[in-house]
Amino acid sequence: MFKRNRSVKILATLGPSSSDVETIKSLHLAGADVFRINMSHGDPDKMRALMEKIRTVESDVGRPIGILVDIQGPKLRVGMFADDAVMLENGATFRLDTKDEPGTVERVRLPHPEIFEGMDVGHTLILDDGKLRLECIGSDQKSYIDTKVIVGGKLSSRKGVSLPDTTISGGALTEKDRRDLNAALEAEADWIALSFIQRPEDVAEVRKIARGRSGILSKIEKPQAVEKIEEIIELSDAIMVARGDLGVEMPLASLPGTQKRITRAARKAGKPVVVATQMLESMISSPVPTRAEVSDVATAVYEGADAIMLSAESAAGDYPHEAVSTMNTIAVETENDPLYRSIIDAQRTEPEATGADAISAAARQIAETLHLSALVCYTSSGATGMRAARERPQTPIIAITPRVRTARRLALIWGLHPVATDDATDIDDMVERACGQAMHHGFASPGNRIIITAGVPFGTPGATNLLRIAFVREEHSQQRRN
Ligand code: PGA
Ligand code: MN
Repeated sequence: MFKRNRSVKILATLGPSSSDVETIKSLHLAGADVFRINMSHGDPDKMRALMEKIRTVESDVGRPIGILVDIQGPKLRVGMFADDAVMLENGATFRLDTKDEPGTVERVRLPHPEIFEGMDVGHTLILDDGKLRLECIGSDQKSYIDTKVIVGGKLSSRKGVSLPDTTISGGALTEKDRRDLNAALEAEADWIALSFIQRPEDVAEVRKIARGRSGILSKIEKPQAVEKIEEIIELSDAIMVARGDLGVEMPLASLPGTQKRITRAARKAGKPVVVATQMLESMISSPVPTRAEVSDVATAVYEGADAIMLSAESAAGDYPHEAVSTMNTIAVETENDPLYRSIIDAQRTEPEATGADAISAAARQIAETLHLSALVCYTSSGATGMRAARERPQTPIIAITPRVRTARRLALIWGLHPVATDDATDIDDMVERACGQAMHHGFASPGNRIIITAGVPFGTPGATNLLRIAFVREEHSQQRRN
């Protein structure tokens, strides 16, 4: 029965440092609202085992917890070297080809036939997360790419390859991705994250497979995706600024501006946006963060991000619990800063011309003018909850939904305190339930007032069309609840 005293959400990646029920529970209590399972390091069996543990924690604490399954995507890697690694000298020539033979200092296999077609002279190849850089000097666009080494160094087997200039043919999913995606959908993941998408069609393809079963979060980690950001946002249920790979594929110094552009575009559309990677990187091996990291987390909070993410800090570091609680503390402090409200208010964009938007905007205004204790919004699919969050009200939002899956999905969204409980039967029942929940979850006491938005008639998914101010009374604590 606890509530967070912040609006931004925390997304924590699970891994070797956080795979048992006890640790997962402690991370949740310390502040993690949603957990990420990274399929780059897992298979469906491992995923199901982790999901089961998260659900155990969920029923233990009695609060909905979101699960995001991150699909690896077409991450490119070179093949194996005969001696595990070679030294590439600056200025040397080096070939990448399709031959299934161990690599040498002259060539290595690139086991991704789909990338040769789009390769042109002048295209850059970035290896090992930016450590080495090659430039294409010739290719038959079928079986080999000849390159000149611009920045050399040690290259070892299976290192990653990024192609910032090359559009890769084929879909967004590898065979492993399809298997993982289907397993995640079957296991009822609340969110599916798509890695390395390049075009809106990549998202559309997955939407078709998912058929609404999970929310689709598009990770923006390629310059090609940044260029098409509006269309990608339109087709996605959420967005991630995936700064790790994005920072490899574009100049690092342009990353902060790109982060701002992406968060703004997502905020304008009312789609949740996650800021990710290296937020508290030094906490992988230290119990305290650097000043720069604290500032980076705060920046994302001031930008109005829905969620901030921990990767290796919670998955593979020495201090997973400290990383989550540090992030929680920074978020709380930042939101309590007097400047926070004016910065968030300045970002507000006009409501779109829909009933849910207009009612959400009015509800926020009334709640703030009358200093109401909570804004309770009835939402079946979660869409209305997201429109209420788009307004970034100062008043806490309780999102009441009859579907536990909606409640879990909404755990990722800024400011929403999701509650899964039976739908109201009529308007009196709606008021009673809303007041009861506001009191039960610690948002209101007898004598306070709340504002309620809903769609009537109840039980039929329809547009939000009702707004009601209600007094919380002592008797509401007797309300039946989930
Ligand atoms: P990853 O994605 O952790 O799956 O690589 C996030 C990023 O690239 O920033
Ligand atoms: Mn990535």
